[in-house]
Amino acid sequence: MRDLGDGHHRAAVVGSGFGGLALAIRLQSAGIATTLFEARDKPGGRAYVYEDAGFTFDAGPTVITDPDCLRQLWALSGRDMADYVELLPVAPFYRLCWEDGTVFDYSDDQEAIDAQMRAINPRDVAGYRRLLAYSEDLYREGYERLGTVPFQSFWTMAKAAPTLLRLQGYKNVYGRVSEFIEDEKLRQAFSFHTLLVGGNPFSTSAIYSLIHALERKGRVWFARGGTGALIAAMARLFEELGGELRLSTPVERIETADGRATGVVAGGERMPFDSVASNADVMHTYRDLMAGSRRGGDKSRALGRKSYSMSLFVVYFGLSREHPDLKHHTVLFGPRYRELLADIFGTDGLSEDFSLYLHAPSVTDPGLAPPGCSTYYALSPVPHLGTADIDWETVGPLYRDRILRYLEERAIPGLRDDLVTVRHFTPFDFRDTLNAHQGSAFSVEPLLLQSAWFRPHNRDDVIDNLYLVGAGTHPGAGIPGVVSSAKATAGLMIEGAGV
Ligand SMILES: Cc1cc2nc3c(=O)[nH]c(=O)nc-3n(C[C@H](O)[C@H](O)[C@H](O)COP(=O)(O)OP(=O)(O)OC[C@H]3O[C@@H](n4cnc5c(N)ncnc54)[C@H](O)[C@@H]3O)c2cc1C
Repeated sequence: MRDLGDGHHRAAVVGSGFGGLALAIRLQSAGIATTLFEARDKPGGRAYVYEDAGFTFDAGPTVITDPDCLRQLWALSGRDMADYVELLPVAPFYRLCWEDGTVFDYSDDQEAIDAQMRAINPRDVAGYRRLLAYSEDLYREGYERLGTVPFQSFWTMAKAAPTLLRLQGYKNVYGRVSEFIEDEKLRQAFSFHTLLVGGNPFSTSAIYSLIHALERKGRVWFARGGTGALIAAMARLFEELGGELRLSTPVERIETADGRATGVVAGGERMPFDSVASNADVMHTYRDLMAGSRRGGDKSRALGRKSYSMSLFVVYFGLSREHPDLKHHTVLFGPRYRELLADIFGTDGLSEDFSLYLHAPSVTDPGLAPPGCSTYYALSPVPHLGTADIDWETVGPLYRDRILRYLEERAIPGLRDDLVTVRHFTPFDFRDTLNAHQGSAFSVEPLLLQSAWFRPHNRDDVIDNLYLVGAGTHPGAGIPGVVSSAKATAGLMIEGAGV
């Protein structure tokens, strides 16, 4: 443990999502005495954990890609992540299912992919190779080169623009994928990924097609004990480094004076800090935590003009039997794709149909359920609260039952008879539990004109010791995104602290 006594730069980080934790670890490793404030009783944010009747439910992220970006956090202090948490490979990466019975298992086994594609549309075998080569180019430029560069000035954006143009970032993901792939189901299979970072494949920049290469290179992993075990490992590392983690301590205010952040107010206590970083929702940060300040007012008005990603409805359930035939990650496509996405991103109501992501983690780690039982969650993308006026208090239980019935018909026979425990999380919960603006699940929507320099900056433009980290800043949502944002923000903070 480092001895960070008096005289050291002291930083506050508000929120302990993956981004907040990764930033706090980087700061503490660099010799900055860091206090991490978390409103909830456990760290993790969207990666919270529920424990009901002996079942363990990861609340949010389950697909771990690019484990190296996490390993780096331990390497900073000469430690090895493997001593803290075990990552298990997941194969296939996903099983994709359509209502007509078509099944496609996506993995890094090229021969298996080719064979399945050949059966669906032989011409797409070569098209997929070209798509993958394009995705690798995007990955190198968009993720490896620019993902951890803070876009503080328009000049940085101008320098990146020719690359974004060459890679046709002005096209949308579905349109670009369709230039390589002919079959409609395979187009869905290679475009739905933007939903994992809150984007509609029909409007999200084609740059986000880099996710294929990210998965193929880093593969897909799951932490033994669940994503919560990974969060617990990060929290342990931070505390071992000497950092202070204050749970159940919501920050009420970020204090500023003379154009500088001076500290935070939490639990009624005023605490001075040399710099402050917020991992909380960006709108919450400026509108609520900086209420009454000029900067808070200006920035929250600007954020009010941005568009936000969709919300999610998530049902967590435990069953009294196992279903070993299921894959760890399954996507159940519904009857409509483009039209359903248009409903989710633009209409004032809930569609009759849905497409679901089903998480079945006890297939990989049986320890997440009591013996002979199994753990699941099903996730349905739904409009956020700025788009649709839905009373989730009333609609939630009905929507949950519709999802369970559909799952019983398509994937898990006997589901409702075997139900031991069930709970759900609605857009109201994103708003009320996570302070998420409009109940958005992934913060600012990843549109081209809301990415890089156009996204809220890692360092505030006016208050130069106030920083952002997490899904609402560059590069964006998803674990690799927010962990990359922590690297970009930490670089600025360490430079600003002069350590
Ligand atoms: C259901 C679901 C499934 C997902 N699946 C995947 C996946 O499989 N793979 C993947 O890579 N990504 C996935 N994502 C996306 C990913 O989880 C998020 O983008 C990422 O975890 C967000 O991290 P963050 O650092 O922005 O912080 P968040 O997780 O948003 O955490 C912010 C924290 O700030 C705290 N906070 C808020 N206000 C205050 C305050 N005033 N004071 C103190 N604390 C405060 C909150 O309590 C919270 O803990 C998923 C998201 C969801 C919702």
